[in-house]
Amino acid sequence: MSAAISLSPDVLAKYEPVIGLEVHVQLLTVTKAFCGCANKFGSAPNTNICPVCLGLPGALPVLNAKAVEFATLAALALHCKVRERSIFARKNYFYPDLPKGYQISQYDKPLAEHGWIEVPTADGHTKRIGITRLHMEEDAGKSLHEGFADSATRTYLDLNRCGTPLVEIVSEPDIRTPEEAFEYLTRLKEILLYTGVSDCNMEEGSLRCDANVSVRPKGQEKFGTKVEVKNVNSFRFIRAALEYEIERQIEVIESGGSVVQETRLWNSNEGRTYSMRSKEQAHDYRYFPEPDLPPLIVSAKVLEETEKRLPELPEARRARMIAEYELTAQDAQTLTASREFADRFESAAKTAKSPRRVANVLLSEVGGRLKALGLEPEQSPVSMTGIVLAADLLDEDKISSRQMKQLMDIAFEKGEDFGIVYEREKPQQITDASALEKLIDEAIAAHPKQVEQYRAGKKTMAGFFLGQVMRASKGQANPVLLNELVVKKLEG
Ligand SMILES: [Zn+2]
Repeated sequence: MSAAISLSPDVLAKYEPVIGLEVHVQLLTVTKAFCGCANKFGSAPNTNICPVCLGLPGALPVLNAKAVEFATLAALALHCKVRERSIFARKNYFYPDLPKGYQISQYDKPLAEHGWIEVPTADGHTKRIGITRLHMEEDAGKSLHEGFADSATRTYLDLNRCGTPLVEIVSEPDIRTPEEAFEYLTRLKEILLYTGVSDCNMEEGSLRCDANVSVRPKGQEKFGTKVEVKNVNSFRFIRAALEYEIERQIEVIESGGSVVQETRLWNSNEGRTYSMRSKEQAHDYRYFPEPDLPPLIVSAKVLEETEKRLPELPEARRARMIAEYELTAQDAQTLTASREFADRFESAAKTAKSPRRVANVLLSEVGGRLKALGLEPEQSPVSMTGIVLAADLLDEDKISSRQMKQLMDIAFEKGEDFGIVYEREKPQQITDASALEKLIDEAIAAHPKQVEQYRAGKKTMAGFFLGQVMRASKGQANPVLLNELVVKKLEG
C-alpha cells in the first residue's frame, strides 16, 4: 500500500507519467561469469569465492560461454538485435561489497539492442514497449546489515554473489502507467522463464528492478525531471512505488515546486520513497574498456544456432492453444503462466477427449479448490491423470458435473487422487427413464408459473427444470437422458 497523498482525480488527470525500467537478471549458469566458482544461492557466506571474483592482484577473468549463450538467448527472445562484436567495460566505484573496485559490465557496445515486449492495455489492445539494450555484467557481493548480535554497530559482507552473471535489460521510456509497468515485468519474467536462462526469483534477488519515473503535463512533448526509484523487490511493490512516486511528483509541481533529479529508495513498510542521493552525488563510473577481456564475438553461425534453440514463447503458445483447444484468452493466459505448467497441461490434454474440458476441470475445479485452501499447484492431491479422468467421465456422461464436484470435494478432503475416489465411490446414475419422469412430473407440478413461461416461448426455462430435477436426484440423474425427458415433458 502506498502512503496517502491526496490529490483529486482532476489534478492527476492533468499529468502523464513517463516510466522506464531497468531490470537485472541473474543467469542460471552452474559457475560464475568469469571464474569457476559455484553460482549458487544460499551457501554459507564467503564459501564460493576465489582470487578472480575477489579481484586479487594478478587474477585474470575468463568469460563463461554458458553465460553468453543465456544472454544471447534472452536477447533473441526479447526481439533484440544482437551485436556481432560487443565490448566489456569496467564500471568503477567504491563500495564495501565490491572488493575489486569495479564491476565488469558493458557500456557503449552492449551485447544487444532495439528489442520489445508487447503488453495488454486497459482498452483490450496491445502496446509495444521498446527495449533499449540488453547487456552482460557481473553482480557485486552483499552487505548484511541485520541478523547478527552486533548488527547495530557492524555490517557484515558475504561475497558469494561477486561475479554472478547478470543481464541488465533497459526499457525505453515507453511505459505510461504503473499497470503497464507491472504487465511489462510480468511478460519479461515469463519470457525469461520460458527460455530457461534465469529462475527470476525476486525473493532471492535473481530478478531486481529499478524504475525511472517522471511526470509531464498532458500534451507536453518534453520529458519532466526523472527520479530513479530503487529497492523495489516485488511486482506488487513496483505498482505501489510508482503510484506513490507519480503522485509525489505531481504534488511537488502543483504546489509550485520543481522535481529534483535524484535517486530514491522505496520503503515497503511505510509505502513511500525516500531520497537517497541527489544528482550532485550521482556516481561517475569512469567506464573504460576491460583490458583483461577480448571483444565478445557472437558470429552469425552461433546466432543462428541459438535462434533454433528458442522455445515457443508465451505469446505464440497462447495463440496456438486458443486455436487448437478452443480455450478462452483468460484460460490460455493462466495455463501458459509457466512453461512447465503449459507442458503438463498439453501432454495431458492430448490424451483426453476434450482438451477444453480438461482446462475447465483443471482451472475451475482443481485450481479453484487450491486457491480456496491456499495451496500451491504441487500440493494438489489430484494429479493431471485424475483431471483427465474427470474430464472424460463428464464427456461420456458417466457422471454429472454435480457428482464430479462431490468427488473432487472428497479428493481434497482426504488428500486422495480423483481416480482413487472415483473407483471407491462409483457414483450411481439414474438411467431409468420412468424414475426420472416421475421426478420431472413432480417438478412441473410444483412450478406451474415456470411451465407457463416455457410454453410462452421462454425456452431457457428448461434449464431451471434440469436444475430442479438434478437436485432432487441428488446429482445422480444421467444428464443427457434428463435433458431429453425434460424437453419432451415441457413440450408435451
Ligand atoms: Zn571465483
